[in-house]
Amino acid sequence: MHSGTDFYQQAAQAIRSARRLTAFTGAGISVESGIPPFRGSGGLWNRYDPTFIEIDYFYRNPKKSWELIREIFYDFFGRAEPNAAHRALALMESRGLIEVVITQNIDNLHQEAGNTTVYEFHGSSQFLVCTACGNRIHFTAAGLEVLPPACGECGGLLKPDFVFFGEQIPEPANSRSFLEAQLADVFLLIGTSGEVMPACGIPFLAKENGAAIIEVNTEPSSYTGRITDIFLQGRATEVMARLVEALGIG
Ligand code: NAD
Repeated sequence: MHSGTDFYQQAAQAIRSARRLTAFTGAGISVESGIPPFRGSGGLWNRYDPTFIEIDYFYRNPKKSWELIREIFYDFFGRAEPNAAHRALALMESRGLIEVVITQNIDNLHQEAGNTTVYEFHGSSQFLVCTACGNRIHFTAAGLEVLPPACGECGGLLKPDFVFFGEQIPEPANSRSFLEAQLADVFLLIGTSGEVMPACGIPFLAKENGAAIIEVNTEPSSYTGRITDIFLQGRATEVMARLVEALGIG
């Protein structure tokens, strides 16, 4: 594994010569937009008990669950904007360097930055889905003043269209992401601990299929030292700015 300041040129070279480059992002890329990760110091699970987004708890206690969901994912996350790392990925797509972004995030910041092909492995906070009739609406159309929100079509319980603990990964994001791991010859991991199943398996599958792994993280992850070829240590905004410079597209 390579790491340190001398390796930006090597990473840029791998990216320039890639046949198909895929980015795989986690909560770390949005930390500098003001959205905390789940784990680690400053993580959400130090402040909140994650039970409120367990699917069984949600159905048993929709009002209580929704009160925390609104506070964390709408009042608070809702104010976040894309940062320099999100914008770097959008720039790389616009220059034909990136095919796909696979994200574990639910914050819509890759799309807001300008990426057009984004597989949302854990769904999105932007939409709510009716648990009775399947009707799907933008969250701004729901009016979250009265909780729990009810479907305008059938009166059923609305749920955020992101994956709760105990739920399946949505299609087609699930199958497309694992297919992407077989197609790409370079994978760029940004801000992911590699501890959340089954998403964490995607980079391992890419490596098994011969992809080179470039990793951006403030600290070593489950991938570092196992499958990472080039480790660019630091905050996502700073590392991605240097990478864009090394690519000569800044
Ligand atoms: P995680 O919370 O398990 O790990 C975050 C990773 O980011 C860590 O490895 C950490 O070292 C790294 N990191 C922290 N700050 C960073 C920075 N400034 N620059 C680069 N790296 C940084 O995150 P995960 O692996 O994505 O898994 C948590 C799950 O929780 C995700 O799958 C996602 O569904 C969900 N989540 C989403 C959001 C969001 O949408 N923004 C926020 C929190 C959690």
